[in-house]
Amino acid sequence: MKVSLLLFFSFVAGLLVRAAGQMIINRYPVEEAPEAPFAVERARMVEVQLAAPSRGIRDKRVLHVMGNVPRHEFVPPARRARAYSDSALPIGYNQTISQPYIVAFMTEILELKPESRVLEVGTGSGYQSAVLSGLVSKVFTIEIVPELAARAKADLQRLGYTNVDCRTGDGFAGLPEEAPFDAILVTCAADQVPPPLEAQLKPGGRMIIPLNDGSGQTLFLVCKDDLGISKKPVLPVRFVPMRRSKQTER
Ligand code: SAH
Repeated sequence: MKVSLLLFFSFVAGLLVRAAGQMIINRYPVEEAPEAPFAVERARMVEVQLAAPSRGIRDKRVLHVMGNVPRHEFVPPARRARAYSDSALPIGYNQTISQPYIVAFMTEILELKPESRVLEVGTGSGYQSAVLSGLVSKVFTIEIVPELAARAKADLQRLGYTNVDCRTGDGFAGLPEEAPFDAILVTCAADQVPPPLEAQLKPGGRMIIPLNDGSGQTLFLVCKDDLGISKKPVLPVRFVPMRRSKQTER
């Protein structure tokens, strides 16, 4: 009698433990995994991939923002475990979210000020826009793939990046109605600096853009001053190509 009672209670206890375990699992499905482990990985990303002397990102504001933006929220759920790895990752539609170091490098070199208005060409996941959002007063970002544009817009809204204005279209043409910009950041590789982007840069403004050369791509820093435009190669890179719509190809 006593033994069967004991068996009965241990059976019931087992059921309760399993139910409680399932409740915890249900509360944190993969998409809403708890933030804590990601925060640790993000802090390590900043230290090892960005601030380390071999990498040399020094701007405290850039390091701070990248220590806070939840990169795992901008990658597909299946890639989340690698969200803070030292690499670009696929985001669907044959496109990628850039390597964290490249995001930091491009952001730092623009020498952004809190009052800057920035244009990004190639929204992709929206991650770079989120980083810019924490550093400047207003971000405009254009994406040519409508599905990516819609997803990034929804993600940025959900995460509270209210100063980012997402547009769908061909960024080769820039955004004349919102120009001029203090800074322009292009995240897809072009054959030349698109003339509309050059025109939409403020005097004193800076643009960072990957350009195709014979064998690969180089990141160029484009500066505009009273004398005109100067172009300086700063880093060999690999970005997805800039696509063109019928309108801007003409
Ligand atoms: N900044 C992005 C990286 C995206 S990869 C991020 O943080 O995730 C580059 C993006 O540029 C791709 O999404 C691609 O669809 C987009 N793109 C390519 N050509 C474009 C164009 N002409 N205008 C706007 N976006 C373009």
